[in-house]
Amino acid sequence: MTNLLTQTIDTTNRPDHDGNFGAYGGSYVPEALQRVMDEVAAAYEEAAADPSFKEELYDLHKHYTGRPSPVFHAKNLSRILGGAQIYLKREDLNHTGAHKINHCLGEVLLAKRMGKKKVIAETGAGQHGVALATAAALMGLECDIYMGEVDVMKEAPNVARMKILGAKVVVVKSGTRTLKDAVDEAFKAYLADPITQIYCIGSVVGPHPFPAMVRDFQSVVGVEARGQMIEMTGRLPDNVVACVGGGSNAMGIFSGFLDDASVNLYGVEPAGLGLDTNQHAASITKGKPGILHGFKTLLIQDDAGNPLPVYSIASGLDYPGVGPQHCQLHDIKRVSYMTATDREAVEAFYALSRLEGIIPALESSHAVAYAVKLAPQLPSDATILVNLSGRGDKDIDFVMDNYPLVEYEPKIDSPSAYEDFLSHIQQKKR
Ligand SMILES: *Cc1c(COP(=O)(O)O)cnc(C)c1O
Repeated sequence: MTNLLTQTIDTTNRPDHDGNFGAYGGSYVPEALQRVMDEVAAAYEEAAADPSFKEELYDLHKHYTGRPSPVFHAKNLSRILGGAQIYLKREDLNHTGAHKINHCLGEVLLAKRMGKKKVIAETGAGQHGVALATAAALMGLECDIYMGEVDVMKEAPNVARMKILGAKVVVVKSGTRTLKDAVDEAFKAYLADPITQIYCIGSVVGPHPFPAMVRDFQSVVGVEARGQMIEMTGRLPDNVVACVGGGSNAMGIFSGFLDDASVNLYGVEPAGLGLDTNQHAASITKGKPGILHGFKTLLIQDDAGNPLPVYSIASGLDYPGVGPQHCQLHDIKRVSYMTATDREAVEAFYALSRLEGIIPALESSHAVAYAVKLAPQLPSDATILVNLSGRGDKDIDFVMDNYPLVEYEPKIDSPSAYEDFLSHIQQKKR
C-alpha cells in the first residue's frame, strides 16, 4: 500500500530546473505570467513531496475514478491479425471515459491547495473539459472551459455534460475555431486574472511546470500497467503503443517503461488525410522546432514560424505542437513516432468494436491502428500493450454518418479475414 501510494505520482525523469527536456520545453511567457508559473511550480513541488496530497489523490483514483483500470488481452483481434498478442490498458473505463481525469483530479487538488476559486482550461474533443468540470464539481470550484466553435458543434454531448456539471463553456470563434485557438483564448483569460483562477492545462504541454506535472499525474497509468503485464504474462511487454496529441496518455504509460531498455515504445501521431497533404497533425513527424503556448516544441509552422492549421478526425489529437518530453524522447530515439491516417483509425475503431465489444475513442483508435500494423510482423508469443486512452461513445454518430459499415459477419479464422472485414467499411465524405 505504502509503495503504491508513493508510486501514484512518479516524479522521476525530471526536466532541468528551467523545465527543459533536452532542447525543448522551458517557459516562454510574459514576465507577469512567469511569476505565476514559478508559484505553480513551487506549489506543485511541495504538494508532490507531501504524503497527504498523494494519499488524497490515491483515494480519489481508487474510489472515484475506479483505478486501477484493468488490462485486457484482446484475443480475438490478436487471432485475426495472426501475430503478436495485443493487450489493452483500459483507461476508457475510468469515470468520465478517458485518461484525462487522472491529471484533472491532480490539478484541481493542487488548485484547492493553492486557495484558487476557479479553474480554467481549453478543450478539443471536450474530454478534458468534461474531466475538469467533473473534478471542479467534486471539489467545489468554479470552472470555465474554452472550446473552439467547430468542436462545440462536433462534440455536442460533451458540451452538455460540462454545462450539467456546472461549468461555463466559452465558445472560441477566432482562427480555425479549434483546439489551438481555444488554448490562445484560455491563456489570455488566465493572464487577465492569475490570482483567483488557475489554468489546468489538458496535456503535457505549455510552459514549465505543466509538462512535468501532467506527466507525473498520468504516470499512474504506466506504473499500474507495468505491474499488470508482469502479473498476466510473467514479463514486461515487448512493445507499448499510445496515441499522441499533446502527449499525456502516451507519457503516462511510457513513464512505467522508460528505464526498461527491452521495451519498444511507439507514439502514434494523426496522419489525417495523409502526411503529404496539409490535412494532418503529425507534429513530431512533420514539425520543426518552434515556440507555441509558452514552450519550445516540434511545431507544424509556416516559414515565418506561425503555427499552421492542423487536422485530424480525432478532435483530441489536432494540435500543431506536442509535449516537450516527446520531442526529447524522439531526439534520443527512446520512442519511435509513427502515424495512422483517419481511415486507418476508423478501421481500428470498427475492428475493436466488432471483435472485442469495445468501442474506442477515435483518438485511441490511432494507437490500435498501429498495433494492428505491428502485430502481424511479430511472432505469436510477442506482446503489444496499447493504451486505450478513452471510450468512443462521443464519436459514434460521426462514424456512422461518415463511415457506415456494410452488414457482415467477420470470419475470424480465414486467412484474409481482416482485409475482408476492412472492405466492408464505406466512406461517404472527404
Ligand atoms: C484528449 C485525448 C487524447 C489526446 O491527448 P493526449 O494528451 O495526447 O493524451 C487521446 N485520447 C483521448 C481519449 C483523449 O480524450
